[in-house]
Amino acid sequence: MRYLSTRGQNLSSTKLSAAPSFTEILLTGLAPDGGLYLPESYPQISKTELEYWRSLSYADLAYAVLSRFIDDIPPADLKPLIAKTYTAQVYGNGRNSEQAAEITPLRWLERPDEARGEAGLAILELSNGPTLAFKDIAMQLLGNLFEYVLAKRGEKINILGATSGDTGSSAEYAMRGKERLRVFMLSPHQRMSAFQRAQMYSLHDDNIHNIAVRGSFDDAQDIVKAVSNDHAFKARYKIGAVNSINWARVAAQIVYYFKGYFAATGGVDGSSDRQVAFAVPSGNFGNICAGHIARMMGLPIGRLVLATNENDVLNEFFHSGVYRPRGSAETHATSSPSMDISKASNFERFAFDLVGRDPSVIRNLWSAVDAGGSVDLSKTSFYSRLSDFGFAAGRSSHADRLATIRDTFETYGLMIDTHTADGLKVARELRTPEMPMVVLETALPAKFEETIVEALGRRPERPVGLLGIEDLPQRVEVIDVSVDAVKGIIQRYLD
Ligand SMILES: *Cc1c(COP(=O)(O)O)cnc(C)c1O
Repeated sequence: MRYLSTRGQNLSSTKLSAAPSFTEILLTGLAPDGGLYLPESYPQISKTELEYWRSLSYADLAYAVLSRFIDDIPPADLKPLIAKTYTAQVYGNGRNSEQAAEITPLRWLERPDEARGEAGLAILELSNGPTLAFKDIAMQLLGNLFEYVLAKRGEKINILGATSGDTGSSAEYAMRGKERLRVFMLSPHQRMSAFQRAQMYSLHDDNIHNIAVRGSFDDAQDIVKAVSNDHAFKARYKIGAVNSINWARVAAQIVYYFKGYFAATGGVDGSSDRQVAFAVPSGNFGNICAGHIARMMGLPIGRLVLATNENDVLNEFFHSGVYRPRGSAETHATSSPSMDISKASNFERFAFDLVGRDPSVIRNLWSAVDAGGSVDLSKTSFYSRLSDFGFAAGRSSHADRLATIRDTFETYGLMIDTHTADGLKVARELRTPEMPMVVLETALPAKFEETIVEALGRRPERPVGLLGIEDLPQRVEVIDVSVDAVKGIIQRYLD
């Protein structure tokens, strides 16, 4: 499998011979032309294969899917690497062993009544990894892939990132203790929840460095960009990234759409004739982009329902054909903070497919986006093709979130987090009687205690291993908003 850039000029000057392979793009973010990497074509999964995949364990299914995208790691290496990534131990979180072995168990809220042809409503649990958010599923694989590829090449890498909460802890738990990797993670000082701070700052591994910036997330992000744009510094200190445009992260997320589809259509003995809808709480469009790709591979996904919070750039696009990214001044701080995103970096991947994979169209459209403008497809033939891709979209607010959390707890005895609540709210609005609707759970309520207390008047349960995490000793360096301060810290450890 070879990879191309959505902007069509992915060939770096040193490698004019061929489009890059999986491991060649693994450690990079953007393609050299500023585009995003995608496979040259999507592997097609036949009905027969689909029926066979139904019976596989999560790890074997992950291998079946990912080996279609990774052809430059020998199977004898890739298979055990994936097997050690998706274990009941890593995704256990205090559940019984049968559930833990599922990695991403499905939980019905309303069972489908086949006899009457009624749709069911289910939640796909994706948040039982070490940091209680779905990002672990991709990040844990990334950690192991990085370790493997770096060892093969005899190289080291230093990950520099900025986080507003979930990404940073997920990356740190995936990279901790790995010999060839170091993580320098910037976070906004005193702006994350006490739990999120404790998750990151209580790590004492030698290769994990937490840096709290006296400023906002955007300030932290700007520092990361400034350091990465200093090409000499970046090369000398081997600075890398694990941001959400990384192709391997998207690829890893394709797997649970298959897993969720099988679970929603009868499990091992079910059949793949039925269609299933998925509802996805979205921010950077990474999660739902994986669903789009699963559908392009032939998985019978009837609808992909995108849910936003008050930051509704994507909802606006699917209703108007206009994609209008907003600046940080126009970005609201909400109670589903991991979706407080006003520029959906992975959206360019879907747009590439929507415009018939013509890189010159994307180059034109995104030159406007890169200059701070917007993209208007409403009067183009592309807009009328949107329905071919199965998308629908809706939006949720703080009041919707509280009501959904309350209702779900009262009706089903299930506590859900604020992001999953956004997904469930929109799923309810857009579900249709003919197909089951699976809502992707993107985090556990324990991460967002304050809003749960507001909704329910009680605290969320916590996995046993995380009780009292706020009381553990913390290790973090607090700095002013300064590029040089961050460079200084990196140099201190590496020179
Ligand atoms: C990252 C995140 C999202 C948004 O996912 P995207 O892939 O960026 O669309 C939603 N919910 C939670 C809890 C997250 O951490």
